[in-house]
Amino acid sequence: MDAEIIAVGSELLTPARLDTNSLFLTEQLNGLGVEVAGKMVVGDDVGRLAEAVRAAVSRSGIVILTGGLGPTEDDVTREAAARALGRELVYQEDLAARIEQRFRRMDRKMAGINLRQAYLVQGGEPLPNPNGTAPGQWITQGGAVIMLLPGPPPELEPMFRDHCLPRLERLVPKQFIRTRCYRIAGMGESDVDQLVAPVYTKYRNPVTTILAAPGDVQIHLRARCASEQEAERLLAEIGPEIERLLGDRIYSRDGKPLEAVVGDRLRAVQATISVAESCTGGLLAEKITSVAGSSDYFVGGFLVYTNRLKTALAGVPPDLLARHGAVSEPVAEALALGVKARTESTYALAITGVAGPGGGTETKPAGTVVIGLAGPQGSAAHSFRFLGNRARVRALAVQYALDLLRRALA
Ligand code: AMP
Ligand code: MG
Repeated sequence: MDAEIIAVGSELLTPARLDTNSLFLTEQLNGLGVEVAGKMVVGDDVGRLAEAVRAAVSRSGIVILTGGLGPTEDDVTREAAARALGRELVYQEDLAARIEQRFRRMDRKMAGINLRQAYLVQGGEPLPNPNGTAPGQWITQGGAVIMLLPGPPPELEPMFRDHCLPRLERLVPKQFIRTRCYRIAGMGESDVDQLVAPVYTKYRNPVTTILAAPGDVQIHLRARCASEQEAERLLAEIGPEIERLLGDRIYSRDGKPLEAVVGDRLRAVQATISVAESCTGGLLAEKITSVAGSSDYFVGGFLVYTNRLKTALAGVPPDLLARHGAVSEPVAEALALGVKARTESTYALAITGVAGPGGGTETKPAGTVVIGLAGPQGSAAHSFRFLGNRARVRALAVQYALDLLRRALA
């Protein structure tokens, strides 16, 4: 059974507010084995909303609306749902009494408009809302169920957990979703796709999605089956095929990010790491230290933007800088060796490059990045030509640096 989510609220169509309720609901539904087949944001417009509900109910067995259950004129969810389903709105004395009682408990006088919240779509069941005034509604029509839930997450979340989940569990044929997430460094999205598409296109279950960020491609496998074992079996069938094709370019099989994988490895071999950064301005150190517990292996480093500091802090000989330029393999290697020696770390990474958009030359265009790595086995430098804007070049530099270290630690 598939679900659709409709987030209601004109504020969600502005840059000021994001629909987060559907993320919560998706996670909960997936836990039941229900996939979300589509979602939509609709403003506070009763006509458009009624149309959206009608279409969703014709396609999907579960339709969840969030928001628009407040007491004001712009709260049109009840009316839109009634219109879409061809039913009346019915005033419920007991709901009205409960709302009035809630205001009395808060020692507040209830405004008359709050009684708008006492209307139920005919045949619907009210869902209690201990955290607000608007009750939710559970409505069935044909084989479909329609839920009207309040917009504020502190009201919606407990209502869904306490009153919708138990009802859904009885309704939905038990399905299990199992996922696997491979992460790959050092390859572009299209290269990864070209390599693994022949495998994953053979299967409709698991469903494969490929997500890409600079220097970081993720392959998500999602198996949905009637039993947990069957879902695991499907993942165990396709997973190794993908692993064979990508080999050691896979750095994570459980979705863990590269900085955490490298950190775990450093901790396991009781090694430490230091950094010397020029064009990334501290981004590499930031990435490494974003992992809780990184003090176990990260000793610190130098931020050496100018040549003067490359010499003063990392001990790079001035004549090396003069001869090769700051963005060069000899300088990257010297930076790594310098920070390693001066911080007494086991490994050291150095990044120097032209992040752009300006500053490039014929031989070293914007996007040229050199990464130095020093470790117990010696030192080396690797040159890269990254494409893209400044942010992308810097993000790629950090990712490739971490991947060089990962490979050195393998
Ligand atoms: P409403 O029920 O439409 O009056 O919404 C009340 C408040 O709930 C809004 O002002 C938002 O702050 C919040 N809200 C409504 N819909 C969402 C949503 N889809 N995701 C997150 N917050 C929401
Ligand atoms: Mg609203």
